[in-house]
Amino acid sequence: MSTTEPSAPLSADVVLIGAGIMSATLGMMLKELQPDLTIAIVERLDVAAAESSDAWNNAGTGHSAFCELNYTPEKPDGSIDVSKAISIAEQFEQSKQFWSFLAEQYQVKELSRFVNHIPHLSFVWGEKNVSFLRKRHAALTQSPLFQGMEYSEDRATLHHWMPLVMEGRDPQQPVAATRMDLGTDVNFGSLTRGMFTLLQGKPGVSFHFHHEVEKLRQKEDGLWRVKAKNLATDETLKIRAPFVFIGAGGGSLPLLLASGIPEGQGFGGFPVSGQWLKCVNPEVIARHHAKVYGKAAVGSPPMSVPHLDTRVINGKQELLFGPYAGFSTKFLKQGSYLDLPLSVKLSNMRPMIMAGLKNMPLTKYLINQVRQSPADRLAALREYLPQARPEDWQLEIAGQRVQVIKKDEKEGGILEFGTEVVSAKDGSIAALLGASPGASTAVSIMAGLIQRCFPQRAASPEWQAKLREMIPSYGRSLHHEPELLEQVRSHTSAVLGLTAQQPA
Ligand SMILES: Cc1cc2nc3c(=O)[nH]c(=O)nc-3n(C[C@H](O)[C@H](O)[C@H](O)COP(=O)(O)OP(=O)(O)OC[C@H]3O[C@@H](n4cnc5c(N)ncnc54)[C@H](O)[C@@H]3O)c2cc1C
Repeated sequence: MSTTEPSAPLSADVVLIGAGIMSATLGMMLKELQPDLTIAIVERLDVAAAESSDAWNNAGTGHSAFCELNYTPEKPDGSIDVSKAISIAEQFEQSKQFWSFLAEQYQVKELSRFVNHIPHLSFVWGEKNVSFLRKRHAALTQSPLFQGMEYSEDRATLHHWMPLVMEGRDPQQPVAATRMDLGTDVNFGSLTRGMFTLLQGKPGVSFHFHHEVEKLRQKEDGLWRVKAKNLATDETLKIRAPFVFIGAGGGSLPLLLASGIPEGQGFGGFPVSGQWLKCVNPEVIARHHAKVYGKAAVGSPPMSVPHLDTRVINGKQELLFGPYAGFSTKFLKQGSYLDLPLSVKLSNMRPMIMAGLKNMPLTKYLINQVRQSPADRLAALREYLPQARPEDWQLEIAGQRVQVIKKDEKEGGILEFGTEVVSAKDGSIAALLGASPGASTAVSIMAGLIQRCFPQRAASPEWQAKLREMIPSYGRSLHHEPELLEQVRSHTSAVLGLTAQQPA
């Protein structure tokens, strides 16, 4: 990708800070909605999608709530709350619709093989967890979104679904699993680069790699002045724009605070790092074909749910286990250890201290994770793969996540595990904080952001029609409209090549 360097201050309709999946999705949607829009994309690294959106930095799960047990909490009365699962499943269907729209409109190499069909399984052991999974399955399959989900406690069936997970397992251990054939593995890095390749080919789009945004300020004329430092030459690039999107991943929080908007006051961040075990034995890799999610250990954060993941990265099948959580004060994998201390301001000090005090078990859990020895990591892996051999696995560093801390009247400050879009009242700037469910739901997050920040244009018949062309279920409920669900699912499966299979 080439870099366009203007000699004079640049003017654009939209500035996108960060070249990850969020900026790519927003840029692509806006350019489809209004082709004459000018967009400047500013990225501190020299390539796109090299932080959390890179394939090796995230788990690549197309989060549809098929297998993620933390999206279906058990209520105090013992029933299962499926509302979050339904919402996430609907959002992922929207993502698939938008990706299908792009794949049908444009021929780009990166967009031809970025999503693969991989069954999603939840696997639990112990009576209590088996009972939970049985209830979860019964509750979820009431919705058409989860139709086709299978449940089994039969060891032969489970062996058929995931031989490596069952081989060498204690025959007395009560076990159960659900299997949803329609699961996916997504190379979000490839998808992001594909969308940027498309944007690069459009008029009015400029890329500024190796530029770090340091300052942004709204002037009396309502326009934002964005200042970015060229990290190679130290020169300053100035951009003037009526709308700015802070899609800087872990780097979004410092920029939101720097923008000075009142809506951003009181936000803080808590970084959580991650590690994987990557399988290096092709024979082991070839014998597992599923994403198997378990239950998070008591006291652990939801993003540390262990899973054994078949991945398809650049056409090659891979196998990952993890993530093991950890703690680092960096906000980005390629960030600085000063990120966390420098993010503490007068406005967020109280929420950060209060959230820290309230989450001591989490801090303790993360410290224990950091102190894990190779033997501890192997023991965790063997809960899923009883016959795992240490020589078949190597440790890799995953992406960095920054969990959102926000002001709370009652508690002083709370720690959240979802994503949060923070926007100015006048809609001239928006920032995306947090990381879960993340890339999978980028399309619905950005459609919501467009409505919030471009309310008049979003309500116009032209934009409404285009939104429905890009996302046919936009504004409708797939949970309540099974025929529409059937229609969009069979279309996206055909376009994206997600044909259902039974294990051989
Ligand atoms: C371990 C892990 C596992 C995950 N698993 C999944 C999963 O299975 N499924 C899923 O859907 N999601 C998953 N996620 C979440 C997903 O990866 C993120 O939600 C998504 O990639 C975030 O995209 P982004 O564009 O916001 O940020 P990023 O991809 O991090 O991009 C932000 C960009 O901004 C740039 N930047 C930062 N500061 C500046 C600045 N000041 N100036 C200019 N540029 C800047 C960075 O260099 C970077 O390129 C996972 C994340 C992690 C860490």
